[in-house]
Amino acid sequence: MRFDLKSFRFTESERAPGALAVAAADRSLTWAQLRDEACAWADEARRHGAAPDVPVAIYGHKEASFFVAMVGALLIGAPFVPVDTIYPAERLRRIVEIVRPAAVYDAAAGTFTPGQGAQLAERGLAYVMFTSGSTGDPKGVQIGRESVGLLGDWMLGSFGLGEAPVFMNQAPFSFDLSMYEVFATLASGGSCVLNAREQIAAAGAWIPRLAEHGVTVWVSTPSFAHQQLANRDFSPAALPALRTFLFCGEPLPAALARKLRQRFPGAVILNTYGPTEATVATTWIEVTDAVLAAHDPLPVGHAKPDSVLLVDEGGEICIVGDHVMRGYLNRADLNEAKLYTYADGRRAFRTGDLGQMGEGGLLFCRGRMDDQIKLNGYRIELAEIDEALHGLPGVEGGACAVLRRPDGTAVRLIGFVAGAAEGQAASLLAPDALDGWKARLARRLPPYMVPSELVACPSLPMSNNHKIDRKKLIEIYAAIPV
Ligand code: AMP
Repeated sequence: MRFDLKSFRFTESERAPGALAVAAADRSLTWAQLRDEACAWADEARRHGAAPDVPVAIYGHKEASFFVAMVGALLIGAPFVPVDTIYPAERLRRIVEIVRPAAVYDAAAGTFTPGQGAQLAERGLAYVMFTSGSTGDPKGVQIGRESVGLLGDWMLGSFGLGEAPVFMNQAPFSFDLSMYEVFATLASGGSCVLNAREQIAAAGAWIPRLAEHGVTVWVSTPSFAHQQLANRDFSPAALPALRTFLFCGEPLPAALARKLRQRFPGAVILNTYGPTEATVATTWIEVTDAVLAAHDPLPVGHAKPDSVLLVDEGGEICIVGDHVMRGYLNRADLNEAKLYTYADGRRAFRTGDLGQMGEGGLLFCRGRMDDQIKLNGYRIELAEIDEALHGLPGVEGGACAVLRRPDGTAVRLIGFVAGAAEGQAASLLAPDALDGWKARLARRLPPYMVPSELVACPSLPMSNNHKIDRKKLIEIYAAIPV
């Protein structure tokens, strides 16, 4: 059985209905069970007001019911809004305020909390994915049903994943990387092995679990795979069925690709690139020994079929195609700045990434034009953290800066607050009023956005254009006596 991403219906029901569809953190589902549960979920969600173009928020972490709910929403035509438990309650509340869904479905409890149920202006969306926003608020990326159909076609047509692939899913469902496994599993009739944070942390049991399910495709950020290299079980002997590494979300360091080639000589490594706003990814390249010999840093590859890639005169990568989002939800200002109509009439998105087009349309990413960063694969707008720091009690201004390795990889966030007495040196000793600052920030921000240290200074350095001078912040940090 599989799920068709054009009609959004289960199809080929007679083909292996007893095959594994989802091995979740809590329980497993065959394809027949997935179909039955998704239909039952859709009936219940309808009773709670879910309808075509009326969204439903789904809250949880790697439960089978989370997967069921996403498929149920696709059956109804209700855009789903995935929110992982990594987000604090305040962020879920804000997302609900922006989306006004029919209900919030709690995947762990199996319950619906009623919402306002407003119909979205955009019709025919598959999902709305929230990413960090530079105004201090998360922003909702609206992805159309046509876009996920194209994603499925591309993955099955170009990635060489074989019949009924078995995906290792680890990224939270609120991170669009995870939509790779969701939609490719559905389109192919394969299986998806969901891994909760606690399962991954129990390394001794985790890899055997992947092996038991016969994982064939590893999907993660490069950072996540890098962390696994320290685990000796992360090997072809322990994972004999694994034949593809599918990476996206941040630069793939050539050194990591080389180590993986050594450890898994029989596996194919795919580097893919693209923002959430263009439905998971837009370019791909197989990182062979020849590619490794020719390039460091590695290219991000060629445009997927039906997509046009441009690097404009300012060096910015622009993406054209029906896989480009329909816009940020209720953010006409951002849509005006980031979207335009290309010469062929299709949607085009200005990524904010600097690029260089090599021979034959081979694209290289050369960093960002703005203050968006990736930390362990998570997408972060520094301005969102600035806002949260500014919201701490007694603080006159807040800003954060990023510590990086020599190769540019972000490794740590440092927070800065203004308000220390004039003439006083910057210090890591936060004033009493800021006691418990981490816990306060964690009420608003996910853990990966909470800085590891806080520096109190009399004022925050500004650059000539009246923006926070983040380079100066790093200098202030480096000068603090130990
Ligand atoms: P996200 O929306 O979380 O997928 O983040 C998208 C951003 O991550 C892109 O705009 C790039 O800045 C960066 N990115 C994603 N994939 C790659 C890659 N393969 N190489 C370099 N940067 C990447």
